[in-house]
Amino acid sequence: LNRRLAEFGTTIFAEMSALALRTGSINLGQGFPDTDGPEEITEAAVRALRDGRGNQYPPGPGVPELRIAIAEHQRRFHGLAYDPDTEVLVTAGATEAIAAALLALVEPGDEVIALEPYYDSYAASIAMAGGVRVPVTLRPHELAFRLDLDELRAAVTDRTRLLLINTPHNPTGTVLTRAELAAIAELAVERDLLVVTDEVYEHLAFDGEHVPLASFPGMRGRTVTISSAGKTFSFTGWKVGWVTASPELISTVRSAKQFLTYVSAGPFQYAVAEALRLPDAYFDGLRDDLRAKRDLLSDGLSAAGFAVHRPAGTYFVTTDIRPLGEEDGFAFCRALPERCGVVAIPNAVFYDHRDEGAPFVRFAFCKRVDVLDEAVARLKSLA
Ligand code: PMP
Ligand code: GLN
Repeated sequence: LNRRLAEFGTTIFAEMSALALRTGSINLGQGFPDTDGPEEITEAAVRALRDGRGNQYPPGPGVPELRIAIAEHQRRFHGLAYDPDTEVLVTAGATEAIAAALLALVEPGDEVIALEPYYDSYAASIAMAGGVRVPVTLRPHELAFRLDLDELRAAVTDRTRLLLINTPHNPTGTVLTRAELAAIAELAVERDLLVVTDEVYEHLAFDGEHVPLASFPGMRGRTVTISSAGKTFSFTGWKVGWVTASPELISTVRSAKQFLTYVSAGPFQYAVAEALRLPDAYFDGLRDDLRAKRDLLSDGLSAAGFAVHRPAGTYFVTTDIRPLGEEDGFAFCRALPERCGVVAIPNAVFYDHRDEGAPFVRFAFCKRVDVLDEAVARLKSLA
C-alpha cells in the first residue's frame, strides 16, 4: 500500500464478518439486514433483467427513471426540489458517492472536518483525495453522544475546505437536532464551506426527526447530499446510491465518478426507482420494526451489564463495556466470539483519538427477533 493508504489495510467489517463465519457466531458486527427487502422490489429487478433494461451501460448520471424517482423522493419526504437531469447522480452505493465527492472537491492539503467517531470510508476517501482529516469528537452526555458546537467552530481554519457530516450518525446513533444543524449551516455559510452530508439512515430516525442539511438557509447550493438504497430498502448488496446537489457540484462529482466506475449496475436502478415510490406505510413500517428491535437489543444489553447509549437513529447501538470490568473494546471484540458466540465492532476503529473510543462497542440490530433474542441470551452469560 502506498503512504496515503498504509494505515487502512482491511476494513473492520470484513475482518469481523470473517471472524463471525469462522467461529459460527451471531454477527452483530457489520451492518446488514438478515432479511431481504420487499419481494415486489426483487421482482422489479428480475423484470428489468428479463426485459433487457440496464443490461448494457446505462447513462452516466443514472437511468432517467431512477433520477426522477430520487427527485420525487427528496420532494415527498424533505420538501427539497432537485432537477433530475442536472441535480441528481446515481452512484455505486453511498461509498462511491463519498469517495467521488471528496476526490472531486478536495485539493491536496485541504482540511476536511469529520464528526468522530466516523464511518471508516471517510478517512480512507479523505486520504485518497490527499486531504487532511480534522476530527471533531462526539462525546457521551447523559445517554446520547453529542456534538460540541464550539469545538466544531474552533476546528475551522483557513485551510478548511469542507464539512463531512453524517446524520443519523453511524456508529453512535445520534440524530443531529434542528438547532445543531442550523448552527452547522450558519458556520458553513459564514466560513464559506462546502458540506458533504451522508444521510443513508434518513428513514431510520426513531426519536426526533431527520432534517436534511440542504434544507437550511444558504445550504442548497453548497451541500452535497448522499443517500443509498442499502439501508432504506434492505438491499445492501445492490450498491445503488445517489447524490443530490446543485448542477455545478453534481457535474464536479460526476467527473470523478466517471473514472471510478463509469456507471453503476443497470437493472437494480430500475428496481430502486420503484422502491422509492413505495407508499408511506413501507417507510413507517421499516422504522417501526427497527425501533422495536432497537428497544429489544438495548434492553437486552443493559440486562447483560453493558452501559447502553440508546440510539435515536440508525440500526446500531453503542455500548460502554466498563461496567463489565472491561476497558479495551478491541480486545473485548476479538475475544467475544470465543467467550459467547457473538460478533460486535470496536468503536475505536472510527476514531483518530483512539483513547476516546476505547471502551465503546457497537452492535447492529437489523436482525431477526429470534437472532437478537439468542444474541442477548448469549451476552447475558458474560456476567
Ligand atoms: N455511510 C454510512 C454512514 C454507512 O453506515 C454506510 C454503510 N452502509 C455507508 C455510507 C455505505 O453505504 P453503501 O452500502 O450504500 O455504499
Ligand atoms: N455500513 C455498514 C456498517 O457500518 C457496513 C458497510 C461495510 O461493510 N463497508 O456496518
